[in-house]
Amino acid sequence: MDARALRRKLDQFVDSQKTAMFAMLERLVDQDSGSYDTGDVNRLGDYLADQLESMGCAATKHCREGAGYPLTVLAPGTDPAARRVLLIGHRDTVFPAGTAAARPFRIDGDVCRGPGVADMKGGIACGLFAIKAILALREEIGTIPLEIAISSDEEIGSGVSAPILAEKSKHAKAVFSLEPARPGRAVVTSRDGGALFDIEVFGKAAHAGNNFPDGVSAVNALAAITLELAALSDDPAGMNVNVGVVEGGSGAIIVPEHARAKVYTRFSTLGQQADLIGRVREIVQKANAGGIRAIMTDPAGFLPFRKSGDNAKLFSLVREAGEALGLEVQGIDIRGPADSGITASAGVPTICGMGPIGANLHTDEEYMVASSLPEHIKLLALSAIMASERFE
Ligand SMILES: [Zn+2]
Repeated sequence: MDARALRRKLDQFVDSQKTAMFAMLERLVDQDSGSYDTGDVNRLGDYLADQLESMGCAATKHCREGAGYPLTVLAPGTDPAARRVLLIGHRDTVFPAGTAAARPFRIDGDVCRGPGVADMKGGIACGLFAIKAILALREEIGTIPLEIAISSDEEIGSGVSAPILAEKSKHAKAVFSLEPARPGRAVVTSRDGGALFDIEVFGKAAHAGNNFPDGVSAVNALAAITLELAALSDDPAGMNVNVGVVEGGSGAIIVPEHARAKVYTRFSTLGQQADLIGRVREIVQKANAGGIRAIMTDPAGFLPFRKSGDNAKLFSLVREAGEALGLEVQGIDIRGPADSGITASAGVPTICGMGPIGANLHTDEEYMVASSLPEHIKLLALSAIMASERFE
């Protein structure tokens, strides 16, 4: 089938699905799925698995006790041993239960709002309808080997989902991540990596008036650790340490027995990651003295998504698909990490930000550009078809 005829069929099919795609988006946004609310995350997973199975796909729930399950789904006709195009997305959001009831999905003109509408309920709808579109073209183009992986904990570091994504990368010839495209129709061509971990400090409680010398302050020890961690940041070099939450103690007149911090580190290379985490471990280790016990959790997070020749080739392909559809696609490099770092670090050609256009992510002001949903379903479907032909 020639490119123009294919494009016409794709246009026709996607345009005929507009009511259905926005109905699904509304359904997705109005079902809360905060990362820590595993019941909600799994309820949404069940809905998505049902939707995909009704399209003839084979869904696998990678269940794990006490956690939201990553969902991986093979499109009909995809041999589990075949190399294939992999779409990756996440269904968790940063918004806790009750947010959707307080500010449900709505459309004003060309702007859709609601918790997670761009990051990434819109991206999930985009992925599902792109698969539908590819299936609708099956008579013309044959079977495109295709898989979609929908993770359950991206917003908290992908501790559960990362190993599944790494495993799926082994079978992938190209990866498209469904994170939102940025205004100006910019897909994401690189990202820094990042890791999250907790530090816990234990000291000894004492009455701060009667017997102050008997106490060992966990808060003072954590404060010292915090300042040492802050000194590791070197923003121009591409790495930062942010102690984002500190808590500790139980009253002004009690020497604090316990203190805790939540920490995020950003790094731009694998070497920096190893170096930075090593130095953090040394600082925490060194704090174990004078009655203080300090420990840290294993860092969970994202590998950097760096530019490469293969990624550049995939980016040109996306631009070419855009041109065929009358959409001018830009590329943007951003600092925030995402699951695309996992697939890119595994050496699989990757482009991130293939979802609909969105902005103000992780805030109440988040929005998605309504017209970009059908546009990016077409862009994603055509890019996946082309990538399936050109990558091995
Ligand atoms: Zn996201």
